[in-house]
Amino acid sequence: MNFSVDLQGKVAFVTGAASGIGYGIAQALSQAGAKVLVNDISAEKVQAAAAVIKAEPLPGDITSPDFIAQVKQQDIDILVNNAGFQHISPLEDFEPEIYRRMLEVLLVGPFLLSQAVVPGMKAKGFGRIVNIASVHAKLASAFKAGYVSAKHGLLGLTRVIAMETASYGITSNAICPGYVDTPLVRNQLKGLAQSHNMTEEQALQEVILRPVPQKRLLTPEEIGYLALFLCSDAAASITAQGYTIDGGWSQI
Ligand code: NAD
Repeated sequence: MNFSVDLQGKVAFVTGAASGIGYGIAQALSQAGAKVLVNDISAEKVQAAAAVIKAEPLPGDITSPDFIAQVKQQDIDILVNNAGFQHISPLEDFEPEIYRRMLEVLLVGPFLLSQAVVPGMKAKGFGRIVNIASVHAKLASAFKAGYVSAKHGLLGLTRVIAMETASYGITSNAICPGYVDTPLVRNQLKGLAQSHNMTEEQALQEVILRPVPQKRLLTPEEIGYLALFLCSDAAASITAQGYTIDGGWSQI
């Protein structure tokens, strides 16, 4: 695929970028000329990813105050809040500690990081915030109380930030993907295969992709290209949006 955006001179910061969607986005931003700071909670994995992408590693837990203080020292033009995880359980068994941790990582982390970078963006009159939400920011599925709560909140946060920064050359948008081929989805497949007593390939085709007209998982690269567009000058008037990218699944 050939899609050209020039981000030379810009500094981008992508959380949870050692694998999956974050890695795809970091790669797209780096190829467009941005200096990319890649974060992940796994220092070892983020070093390896940074070496391939030609990015700078910034390992750490996005919910830690020390890490937020470190980010405040950076001069960031583009913030991509992507770090996350999934946990599936019926409401009655959903452990409160896991629910709280999901809100911390998927919602409080992006809030704190936005607080850390927005003053610098306002001062220079340019900024791009791209929050990786989900189709689950707009609709619910059973057994995903933590994830759906946090992603609905993240879309709301995205829009509030857009309102407060619109007059400073800053845009704030969310990307709302359907199922993307990453470790997060591959791990869900294992559980689905066991609970439905089928193979992982059957679980993919008959459960996950059943309502998806394109009958395939999205790729991290495809999410990378949408993020790249939202970071470009061409997208300067796009703010407060939640872009669904899901192969026609949800039509929302
Ligand atoms: P992934 O598991 O491949 O990557 C997530 C990364 O986040 C991991 O490398 C993990 O180590 C990191 N991470 C987790 N907690 C962290 C923390 N506290 N601090 C720093 N890093 C942390 O998963 P993915 O599928 O690429 O998911 C990326 C984002 O996209 C998530 O927010 C997820 O909810 C969202 N999303 C994924 C899909 C999908 O189908 N894969 C669909 C919609 C939205």
